[in-house]
Amino acid sequence: MIYYSTKRQAEEASLKKALFKGLPEDNGLYMPEKIAKLPQEFFDNIEKLSFQDIAYEVTNALLSEDVPSEEIRKIVDDAVNFDAPIVKVVDQIYSLELFHGPTLAFKDFGARFMARLMSYFLDKGEKLHILVATSGDTGSAVAQGFFGVEGIQVTILYPKGKVSPIQEQQLTTNGGNIKAVEIEGTFDDCQRLVKEAFLDKELAETLNLTSANSINISRLIPQSFYYFNAFAQLKREGFKKVIFCTPSGNFGNLCGGMIANRMGLKVEHFIAATNANKVVPVYLRTEIFQPRPSLATISNAMDVGNPSNFPRLLELHNNDFETLKERVTGTYFTDEETRDTMKEVYDQTKYILCPHSAIGYQALKDYMDKEEIGKKTAGVFLSTAHPVKFVEIVEPVINKKLEIPQRLQEIIDRPKKATLLEADFKKFKKYLLAEVTATV
Ligand SMILES: *Cc1c(COP(=O)(O)O)cnc(C)c1O
Repeated sequence: MIYYSTKRQAEEASLKKALFKGLPEDNGLYMPEKIAKLPQEFFDNIEKLSFQDIAYEVTNALLSEDVPSEEIRKIVDDAVNFDAPIVKVVDQIYSLELFHGPTLAFKDFGARFMARLMSYFLDKGEKLHILVATSGDTGSAVAQGFFGVEGIQVTILYPKGKVSPIQEQQLTTNGGNIKAVEIEGTFDDCQRLVKEAFLDKELAETLNLTSANSINISRLIPQSFYYFNAFAQLKREGFKKVIFCTPSGNFGNLCGGMIANRMGLKVEHFIAATNANKVVPVYLRTEIFQPRPSLATISNAMDVGNPSNFPRLLELHNNDFETLKERVTGTYFTDEETRDTMKEVYDQTKYILCPHSAIGYQALKDYMDKEEIGKKTAGVFLSTAHPVKFVEIVEPVINKKLEIPQRLQEIIDRPKKATLLEADFKKFKKYLLAEVTATV
């Protein structure tokens, strides 16, 4: 399969190149030339398939030109080794829980799949070094996703004192092929060091450097799996149609749903829900796309002022604004509204939402209340993180202590291992070169 750039100024790429390069030279985004449709039979019988079987069929349809089916089976079984159940919150409204993976957020799907696909494409004996700067969530998903994957070394940079205690434990307690570097500086300093490393000739010659950021095409594929799987579960409950609502920041997760739709999954409507960072909802009303500096909110994983996957939304609708507008409703909420939703839903149903998922619930609820929705249609909002990841925000709002899941408790109990460095490129480079010599 050929992958082209949304800006159409860069050379087309193979899957392997798109995967390892991440971004085309023209700063567009890679897209597959064709998105295969799944056969009607697949949808007729979807409720009989397991989550892993669905993931396998979807991946096989998209990647079979480049990866043998038995390898796809292995990659998928290993990447999708936890569930994504739907849970009824109120009549006709379901939470799609995407937080049952190792770091308790949906980014586990993308990171685990990307790691295994990269490992498959590495030649025998070839080594790859992933460098990531993180403000928290992406880094922990990448750390867990790549942990123990053969041939791949990971270095994660994070700003000292600026990630939550749980996030820091998730970043720094893996050991093995995952190294954490604590930078005396800000997230922007971490990003600058990573950028400089990619531009450094000596590092490029010594280390096979790659990034693992959220625009990588391989992260979108697994983010479509759970849309299909949610539909399968709804069918088992007797529903025939579905509306999806995705709390969004960089809009990668929503792209996953749109890919599923292009592959033949019938979706009545999409809702894109954000916090005060409302660039896309405003665009959907005005056709004016105006990136802005990001605003800090309590749903901080969605604090994005210039959503990086935005061009893909249009591309998935043949670059036609009217079609996109027709298919997607954009909504946004303030922190106060988000807190009100978390409290109201907990008081009425005992269901606990993280701030991101609360935005998804409210956007969906408002839409369902306003439109004429038939009894056979269910609304599904994506619960992108476990509430315990945002315990400082959730507990005071619902006035209840949260239980810490076992898999998180294990991480909290492990010793932290990180190297403390100044935000200085020379020192960082020396560290990287010494690390590599030590691990060869
Ligand atoms: C990353 C993230 C989001 C936003 O997802 P996008 O794909 O960037 O739109 C929402 N919620 C949580 C908890 C996240 O970690």
